[in-house]
Amino acid sequence: MKIELSTPIENIPRVGPIFVKKLQKIGIKTVEDLIFHFPHRYEDFSNIKPISKATLNKNCSILGKILEIKNSRTWKKKITITKAIIEDKTGAIEAVWFNQPYLLKSLKQGDVVCLAGKISIGADGMFLSNPAYEKIPQKNYQPERKFNGSEKNEEDISLIHTARIVPVYPETEGLSSRWLRYILKPLLLELKNKIPEVLPEEIVKGYSLLPIEKAIWQIHFPNSIKLAKKAKERFSFQELFLIELSVLRERLKLDKEKAVSVPININLIKKFVGSLPFRLTDAQRKCAWQILKDLEKQRPMSRLLQGDVGSGKTIVAIIASLNVVKAGYQVSFMAPTEILAKQHFQEVSKLLSPFKIKIALLTGKEDKIISQKLKNELIEISRNKLLEKAKKGEIDILIGTHSLIQEKVKFAKLALCIVDEQHRFGVEQRAKLSQNKKAKTLKQTNKKHSLIPHFLSMTATPIPRTLALTVYGDLDLSILDEMPKGRKKVITKIVSPKEREKTYNFIRERIKEKEQAFVICPRIEATNNENKALNKKENSSWAQVKAVKEEYEKLSKKIFPKLRVEMMHGKMKIKEKEKIMKKFKKGEIDILVSTSVVEVGIDIPKATIMVIEGAERFGLAQLHQFRGRVGRSDMQSYCFLLCQSLTKKTKQRLAAMLKAKSGFELAEKDLEIRGPGSFYGLKQWGIPDLAMENLKNLPLVEQTRQAAKKILEEDPNLKASPILKDKVKKIGEKIHLE
Ligand code: ADP
Ligand code: MG
Repeated sequence: MKIELSTPIENIPRVGPIFVKKLQKIGIKTVEDLIFHFPHRYEDFSNIKPISKATLNKNCSILGKILEIKNSRTWKKKITITKAIIEDKTGAIEAVWFNQPYLLKSLKQGDVVCLAGKISIGADGMFLSNPAYEKIPQKNYQPERKFNGSEKNEEDISLIHTARIVPVYPETEGLSSRWLRYILKPLLLELKNKIPEVLPEEIVKGYSLLPIEKAIWQIHFPNSIKLAKKAKERFSFQELFLIELSVLRERLKLDKEKAVSVPININLIKKFVGSLPFRLTDAQRKCAWQILKDLEKQRPMSRLLQGDVGSGKTIVAIIASLNVVKAGYQVSFMAPTEILAKQHFQEVSKLLSPFKIKIALLTGKEDKIISQKLKNELIEISRNKLLEKAKKGEIDILIGTHSLIQEKVKFAKLALCIVDEQHRFGVEQRAKLSQNKKAKTLKQTNKKHSLIPHFLSMTATPIPRTLALTVYGDLDLSILDEMPKGRKKVITKIVSPKEREKTYNFIRERIKEKEQAFVICPRIEATNNENKALNKKENSSWAQVKAVKEEYEKLSKKIFPKLRVEMMHGKMKIKEKEKIMKKFKKGEIDILVSTSVVEVGIDIPKATIMVIEGAERFGLAQLHQFRGRVGRSDMQSYCFLLCQSLTKKTKQRLAAMLKAKSGFELAEKDLEIRGPGSFYGLKQWGIPDLAMENLKNLPLVEQTRQAAKKILEEDPNLKASPILKDKVKKIGEKIHLE
């Protein structure tokens, strides 16, 4: 049987059906998958010592003959102990294994073995405790031979568990590192000259990367720690490079499409800006200008407008919309929830009322749709009628939820598509929103022409630079890095358990003044499983996880019995949640106890207090988002970070909340402390492990992006490297579809 990369694991000799199942469980289906299952660390047993020189508490390997080996059982604990005496030219030492009676079947008196582990000391002197072991065929036994880890030829490594740097793989049930080494070694020998290079030669040379075959060997069976590192670097480079290529190619495809060129109507914009009750911030001007400039081009805009909560993104979107509408085209404006869509509808209608624009709201399942007729008069029309009007081009701005892309909504001349709070959309919807797919759908929605609309997405979630260059690399960025003037800074305090009462009293005072408070808790209720986990992790803050329900009971009955307290969490129906949000917005609730489901972007001017329970359990960027839900008016607002246990580390981390000037700063800190996995469910995006690990490595990200750009400039279709092209395609599918 010939082994190729594409060979299914079932066909690998020595891999039985039970192991096939186990491997498949962790997504390994082919030989290629298997050899790309990398160790996560190494054990350095390369130091081979004569027995007489073995030192206490150090990792080492010894090579010798088994003089005797036998099992015995302890009286008390009923465990089997296997003891062996090993001898080399310089002396003898005892090796002891616990609960591995079957060892006697493979290790026999007279066998030559290599043992690797730490030397311990007991009543009878030094011994090797639970060492890794490896039998050495008699013919290879050369007691004088030194393994120094610098063997030239990879095949030369006859040992895989001892006397070398040994790979340790992530622990997965039933798949031991020992077994993986045993399978991988012959597999790699079999694959000699059969692992094609993925990276173009100029890249391998230019960035001094290890060639693929060598890298595969060195990542599994490294000759030195340095080479293991080089091998890992190579694959990190490769994974990021593939992502960059995929993202940049998507962008190139999009650039070939044509969009409507919308001229900038300066007078119109000036008139609008002049009609606002406030002055635009410089950042708003700058971003609006970038967008207007993009809209002027025939190349479809694909831009992400980022700005902290309250930085005024909506106005920027409205400026762009107004310009597009007055040039004779339509705009679709999508929000993640009905409540937000309605809020936008009201704000857009209000601000654009002097401009005679037809604005409509298309929500989920309701039949009646409100539409803004000329002269500010609201009329209700049926859903079908509304869709008909959009199709005929009789609606200028259509605002709605994701129903805007999911339903058969057609436009006559859609030129701009705005998506607010892009990050709140589910992964699946986001895949649909991926620019090219969107382009295809949107193209069909335009009745009169086949041009694709410009695309503007907005988010309050700050995206660290490395992510902006990789997973969001196909978007241009505009950043609102300035808050409107006069906005008071939210006063933030870290509250220790002792100061709780004081904080409650303060809240009571504020609510007397008709202000409102949020209380955010990390969980709905502690489940049984969690309780079990808690018991295991004694001392952990999990043990005191605040549950929304419990907190609600406590606050409504004991602490604030006279106030109107309500709760909201993710397990409630959408309608219920919306009802509560509406009540809160109207001021009919004083304190809203909630999980993290509270809307981003909802304007509740009277909400001035944000209490976050178990603050130590949230990421900094997320805490910042919560904080952004208050302080949306000229009233002074407060954010209280309550911690169950205020360790020094927690305090240090949370202190960033008091200092940081923007969400960006906090997001970068999060990335540093918690790693990329904690970002917007990035874990579920199917980003390969090494790429994920390196999403905080800015130099590497920049390097791979440069490399990808250069390759695409010379060979946009990757004609010269079909293997690379195939890999890029695969990673594109993987990242977008999950
Ligand atoms: P976000 O960026 O979170 O979406 P919004 O667009 O909802 O922020 O704006 C928040 C509030 O700030 C709104 O009430 C809006 O009218 C107001 N606003 C926007 N720009 C300015 C400005 N330049 N000066 C004062 N208030 C502004
Ligand atoms: Mg907003």
